[in-house]
Amino acid sequence: MLAPTATLARGGATGRIDWRDGGRYIPDMAEAATEILPIVTVPARILKTKTRRVGPADAEAVRALLPRMFATMYHAPGIGLAAPQVGVGLAVTVIDLMPNDKPAPLALINPEIVAASPELATREEGCLSLPGQYAEVTRPARVTVRYEDETGARREIAAEGLLAACLQHEIDHLNGVLFVDHLSALKRNIILRRLAKERRQNSAQPAAAE
Ligand code: ZN
Repeated sequence: MLAPTATLARGGATGRIDWRDGGRYIPDMAEAATEILPIVTVPARILKTKTRRVGPADAEAVRALLPRMFATMYHAPGIGLAAPQVGVGLAVTVIDLMPNDKPAPLALINPEIVAASPELATREEGCLSLPGQYAEVTRPARVTVRYEDETGARREIAAEGLLAACLQHEIDHLNGVLFVDHLSALKRNIILRRLAKERRQNSAQPAAAE
């Protein structure tokens, strides 16, 4: 998920996440850059495909994937990134809302919403897989999410506000759902057409300069 437009001007985090210290994430500015992965954008099929749950056999793959996902999210910059957005069909997502401009990385493996408030909240959302597109999305205002952390420990988080929206946005990705799928067909088509048009214009620019 992209940061709300109001906070984008703050600029992206430059901190990176290193896999050390007993599996905890430590932002380390001094080490060589962790690999940045290419971000998959609409209409790639993997973005509409439900991911597979992470099992014990995936431990090594996830261990290698998480630092790269964090690095890719910070580089974008974004506040959330799901594995399908980097071409991986596993139920893994990373989030960092950067409260007070400080890194607060959250890795969620096999996350599931186990409770959602009847009250709804509407906020503007964007997505790294639909670059430059934003829309107001209405979702439950509060959610409880059960997940496994990067060490495999089972955890639960109760969230409201931006974190609640971000958790739902990222868990949607793991189920092949995009934020535009919460909009009316009319609004969704406007956004998808605008994205396609901007793409055509961007790809036409080099040719026009010849
Ligand atoms: Zn997204």
